Amino acid sequence: MRSITVRNIQLFTVAMPLVERLRTSFGEEPFKTAILVRLETDDGVVGWGESSAEIKPGYSYETVGTAQHILRQFLIPLLLGQALNSPTEVPALIRGVRGHPLSKHGLEAAAWDAWAKTNGLPMADAFAAHLREGNAPRGYAVVGVSIGIKPSIEATLETIALRLAQGYGRIKLKIKPGWDVQLAHGVRHAYPNISLMLDANSAYTLADADHLRQMDEFNLLMLEQPLGYNDIYEHSKLQPQLQTAICLDESIHSANDARLAIELGACRIINLKPARVSGYTESLELYQVCVAHDVPLWIGGLLETGIGRAANLAFASLPGVTLPSDISATDRYYNPDLTEPPFTLGLDSTIAVPTAPGIGVVVKEERIAEASARWEQDNPYRARELS
Ligand code: MG
Repeated sequence: MRSITVRNIQLFTVAMPLVERLRTSFGEEPFKTAILVRLETDDGVVGWGESSAEIKPGYSYETVGTAQHILRQFLIPLLLGQALNSPTEVPALIRGVRGHPLSKHGLEAAAWDAWAKTNGLPMADAFAAHLREGNAPRGYAVVGVSIGIKPSIEATLETIALRLAQGYGRIKLKIKPGWDVQLAHGVRHAYPNISLMLDANSAYTLADADHLRQMDEFNLLMLEQPLGYNDIYEHSKLQPQLQTAICLDESIHSANDARLAIELGACRIINLKPARVSGYTESLELYQVCVAHDVPLWIGGLLETGIGRAANLAFASLPGVTLPSDISATDRYYNPDLTEPPFTLGLDSTIAVPTAPGIGVVVKEERIAEASARWEQDNPYRARELS
């Protein structure tokens, strides 16, 4: 394999209008924000990565503002001029910076894209090259769709009908206290057999165990992250009280967290967001932990633009990703996206992985310039105090 030397790194902060806003137990943001990382090698190869930081510290403690600061002042200087035999060398180079996984992920992802392009490998093959044999990518990812909190059960049922008609084979609903058991009951009544899961985004406590046990009657694929966003221990107390499998999302920041959660019996399924665990190198470690323990794994999303989505889709095509991933078709999020062609839903709720080297999609730099200008114009940090 050919090495790359990092010559230049540029950042673009973008604001993207969403086709449909997603309301979760955190609330909702006016548009999708991201910091795009453009990494150029000494050979002139350009790799792209995406840091999915939001305006407010909600899902993550990182924000657009902190990610700009950490990337510019600390992470980028550690990578400039470095020769990399593999993108898996990036984490060791930036280890001196603690935390800030979204920032690290965007930078590392750009290095993966540049390295894969330099070696003529589609991203999925670049990932598989760092795994043992038997992990050849499938060429597609099995996907599901996530539906936010709606004003009524009727409105939720309408959206489910639409998504099923579009071909999505797994439905995930966001829940919060007061919007849970009745919702599940209503949906199961209308759709007794669909593949259904619920995501609580940490909206409950262990004191709600009796309440959550009511979910067992709805034959759910899983209940995602019911308790504290950083908690593993209390989930290990809740899981034995439920028949429904708990999936951990927010609590898992590393392969070691996954190992701890599995060994404590805190969950039976893991949602991997590569950004949440600082990048694809740690993601590959976590993947191997799940394969070794026979724990079902799927890839979650942070409403990534086509840049982040393409790389996550490639990861989701690895055979150890055994449950449908939260990677929907482009028309669900952006019109237009920052990349071409759009991702479309294929047969059996799948999305094909691009076959060109690297992330395999064409990055439209003029659309990035437009989305950067939108951020500059609407920059909420400058304009007013955040509510
Ligand atoms: Mg989640």
